[in-house]
Amino acid sequence: MAYVCVDYADFSTMGPQFDTGDYDLSPTSTLVQSPTDKDMPDIPADFPQSPIFHSAASLDASPPDTVLITTDSIAFYVHRCRLLSWSMNDFGGLLIKQESFKSLGIASCVPQLLSAKDDAVLLSVILCVIYDLWATLPTFGLHDLAAGIRALRHYGVDARALVAPQKPLMDVLLTHASLDPLEVFAIAAENNLEPLAIRASPYLLTFDFSSLADELARRIGCSYLLRLHLLCHSRMVFLRGLLLDQHEAHSPTSECSPKEQRIFEGAWATTIASLAWEADPDLSATRLKNALEEAEAHAKCSDCKAGAKKRVKDIVRKWNALQRTI
Ligand SMILES: [Zn+2]
Repeated sequence: MAYVCVDYADFSTMGPQFDTGDYDLSPTSTLVQSPTDKDMPDIPADFPQSPIFHSAASLDASPPDTVLITTDSIAFYVHRCRLLSWSMNDFGGLLIKQESFKSLGIASCVPQLLSAKDDAVLLSVILCVIYDLWATLPTFGLHDLAAGIRALRHYGVDARALVAPQKPLMDVLLTHASLDPLEVFAIAAENNLEPLAIRASPYLLTFDFSSLADELARRIGCSYLLRLHLLCHSRMVFLRGLLLDQHEAHSPTSECSPKEQRIFEGAWATTIASLAWEADPDLSATRLKNALEEAEAHAKCSDCKAGAKKRVKDIVRKWNALQRTI
């Protein structure tokens, strides 16, 4: 027997049976043998294969032992053990357990030919994630990545183990954060990927919450939306507190009386008023420092100058140290 096409009538909880369509997969048809393993399921010579998960690909130490056929009729050669090692539900019930093989009277080593419920792009994302191929393969679009990560749940794969610090998928997603931070944040929130949500959140410090679409709000959920809002709000409250903090007056001198110090305080407040009004939670330290030094220039006496210089340094240091993530 060259291949096993599983009859899912015996497995009501599993996926649909592979539709051979116009292809004759009977043992007497014209078949092409996998170059990697003589026991692999045989597929007609003209049956299209994934450019990544093709029959000759060396993606694991052992040859592939399972062929997944996508809804758009592309064959993916994969390794049952690899998929099962990541899955908590036999890869969405698609892969037959050892005991199921026995109940059908089939040797457990017989390769499987199975129908996947996804198209080739989506299955490519899912398998690239599982095979950790992100560093060497072309980058997928962000929406394909989102669909792939979402689909992991169906296949019983915990996305949190794959989208984690030091994992290539985390880096790939973060490359999109500067251009589409809200989508990256939504991917993180809807899949409970806390490290990704934290690292995407600084890109949303200037986000206009009034522009949030209902669908994205639903995906992100109340908890992450609230945390993002609190981050932005708390940074603004902190900044205004820093800017509006009163000067510490020095002892009156012949050069600088209390009246002259109040004049300096007024000039300082006027200079930074526009900054306090226009600033956003993502205000850069450089812009803050420049505005404060402009205010500092109003100091006339040496004591006021020294106090203002210390104040500028202190404000910039505190602003730089303020948390930028949820
Ligand atoms: Zn003074």
